[in-house]
Amino acid sequence: MARIVMKFGGTSVADLDRIRSVADRVKRQVESGDEVAVVVSAMSGVTNQLVGYCQALSPLHDAREYDAVVSTGEQVTSGLLAIALQTAGIDARSWSGWQIPFGTDGAHGKARIEDIDGALLVARMQAGQVPVVAGFQGIGPDNRVTTLGRGGSDTSAVALAAALKADRCDIYTDVDGIYTTDPRIVPRARRLDKIAYEEMLELASVGAKVLQTRSVELAMKERVRIQVLSSFEDGPVPVENGGDGVSRGTLPGTLVVDEDEIVEKEIVAGIAYSRDDAKVTVRKVPDRPGVAAAVFGPLSEANVNVDMIVQSTGADGTTDMTFTVGKTDLARAIQVLEAAHGDIQYGEMLTDPDVAKISVVGVGMRSHAGVASTMFRTLSDRSINIQVISTSEIKVSVLIGVEYTELAVRALHSAYGLDVG
Ligand code: ASP
Ligand code: MG
Repeated sequence: MARIVMKFGGTSVADLDRIRSVADRVKRQVESGDEVAVVVSAMSGVTNQLVGYCQALSPLHDAREYDAVVSTGEQVTSGLLAIALQTAGIDARSWSGWQIPFGTDGAHGKARIEDIDGALLVARMQAGQVPVVAGFQGIGPDNRVTTLGRGGSDTSAVALAAALKADRCDIYTDVDGIYTTDPRIVPRARRLDKIAYEEMLELASVGAKVLQTRSVELAMKERVRIQVLSSFEDGPVPVENGGDGVSRGTLPGTLVVDEDEIVEKEIVAGIAYSRDDAKVTVRKVPDRPGVAAAVFGPLSEANVNVDMIVQSTGADGTTDMTFTVGKTDLARAIQVLEAAHGDIQYGEMLTDPDVAKISVVGVGMRSHAGVASTMFRTLSDRSINIQVISTSEIKVSVLIGVEYTELAVRALHSAYGLDVG
């Protein structure tokens, strides 16, 4: 017997047929002998619609009321799934975030979970009942409903798995796992059996959209084993080796786990791309101590996140600074830098939204040299110009013209030997 948290995303519960099919899946998991708790998202499209209502009434709406409105999507699904489970003969009960409770901080619209009392649910599960928990929500110190930020029900599921000391958190979605890259761009992309938390975290933060970044952070911290798998495919109930070491089955999806659990580590686990950034260059800045602070200080005060940065110094005592910001922040960044012109004294400012960030990620980079040089050579062989480079211990990212996105991702996927077949 294992204790499993099963989480179903919006497309998995998009209509009543899908909800019936989810109920069937939960039922089979329960009948295999596991203790199960379920976390659900809103039916697909519902949260967008609720957000739209708030915005239509007032773009500057009260965040507490926004939470009161947008948290209802998950509440509907939890009740419907409980009904579907009961109809299928399974003892089930729905739970809103506040009932458990999922205690959060008071940052309405983007709250963080602070503590979960799992005792009540454990008792119910041990008595054979399936709790169906509304994801994406909690209760703040002001005793009002909070929501966790878009995509937050992944985080609800991982936090619940940690609180219940579950053996695994199965995240059911519309893809059957984590791929070496986007299969829509590279048909020969390969599904990974396992990926390390740190790799998943880097991939999620640079554009892979399967899991909310925060959910991966939390899983890594709490050592929650996540499986990403499809709710659209039929197959046997996912069962792992028991504590007795006897293999009772295999897992169909991708496991996100501690690096130590991965026996055959690839040097590069995956390649991600993002078209969400824009490039900003401030040219001919007088080169003196404090210029970087003069440029980036006002941006951070205006809540503009800066990602990649290069600085190049010319012979004439001036320097050029190039960096990226989120496309949605570009207008604000321009405004801030124009206002700071008197302090920074730059010659001119150039901006370019037509860029893509391509990242290769893998824990194997810690012990293998040459990953970056392979990337640079591969791109240069295709005559793709690299505009900015940034690295971390397990990631190399480059900024290129957006028109080269597909070409670059395909070429790199082959260069690192990731193509199937
Ligand atoms: N329903 C929420 C959203 O669409 C939370 C989630 O689905 O994870 O963002
Ligand atoms: Mg999601």
